[in-house]
Amino acid sequence: MKGRVLSIAGSDSGGGAGIQADIKAVTVLGGFAMTAITALTAQNTLGVMDVMDVPPEFLRTQIRCVLDDLGADTFKTGMLSNAGIIRVVAEEIRRYRDVPFVLDPVMVAKGGASLLAKEAVAALTEELLPLCTVLTPNIPEAEALLDRTITTPDDMVRAAKKLREQGAPAVLLKGGHLSGDLLTDVLATEQGVETFSSERIETRHTHGTGCTLASAIATRLAQGWPLSDAVINARAYLRMTIEQAPGYGAGAGPLNHCV
Ligand code: PLP
Repeated sequence: MKGRVLSIAGSDSGGGAGIQADIKAVTVLGGFAMTAITALTAQNTLGVMDVMDVPPEFLRTQIRCVLDDLGADTFKTGMLSNAGIIRVVAEEIRRYRDVPFVLDPVMVAKGGASLLAKEAVAALTEELLPLCTVLTPNIPEAEALLDRTITTPDDMVRAAKKLREQGAPAVLLKGGHLSGDLLTDVLATEQGVETFSSERIETRHTHGTGCTLASAIATRLAQGWPLSDAVINARAYLRMTIEQAPGYGAGAGPLNHCV
C-alpha cells in the first residue's frame, strides 16, 4: 500500500517547513501526499515576513474535494492559524473516525512568529485533541497546552500523561528544547510510556523538523505500521535529513529529504 496522507497545514515559501516539508517527507517515504492549505506564509530561513490565512470555508472545500474523490489513509495537521480554521478541520475530519490523525500543534515559528492565535489554543484542545491518534508537541507547545513549565525528563513524562488525560489517546512529546548532549522524546500511550534517545546533532539547520517528523509518522501509519515502529522510523528519517541539510540561507536552513 502506498499510503495516502492528507496534510492540512500552512505553506512555507522557503520550502523548509509546512506543506512543502510534508510533501517531501511523505513522497520520499513512498506515500502519496495531498494538501489542504490553511495559510500562506512569506518566509525564508531568517523568518516569517507575512502571513495570509485562507478563509475557513475555502479550507473546507479543499478537504472535501480531496476526501470525496481520492480518500486518505492518514490526516496530518500543522499550522492551523486560528479558531475558525480549527473548527472546520474538526467538523470535516470528525466524519472519518477510522482514519489515523497525527496532530502537530504548531504554535510559533523558530524565528518567533506566531502560527496559531493565542485564543485558538483552547479550541485546539477542545476540538482536535479528542479526534487525534497521536499528538506531537515540542516542549514550548506542551507548556502552552498545559500552562506549566517542563524542565526535566521526569516533567516530560508527567506532561505527556497529562496531555493524554486532556483527551489525546497518544502523545509524542519531543525533547529537543531541553539542554544536554542526549535528546529524548517521550511516547505515552494506553500501553504505557516509551522513551527514545539519540545524540543531539549540533546544527542551526533545523527548520521543518517538527513538520518532517509528524509527516513521516503519518506516512508510516498510512502504510499500516504500528505507532511505536512509525515513531522509531520517523526519528531515524528525521536524523538523516538533518545530517544531510544543504546549508541554504543565512538563518535556520532547510533539511535534505532527497538522501
Ligand atoms: N508550518 C509552517 C507554515 C511554518 O512556517 C512553520 C515554521 O516556520 C512550521 C509549520 C513549523 O516548523 P517546524 O517544523 O520547524 O517546527
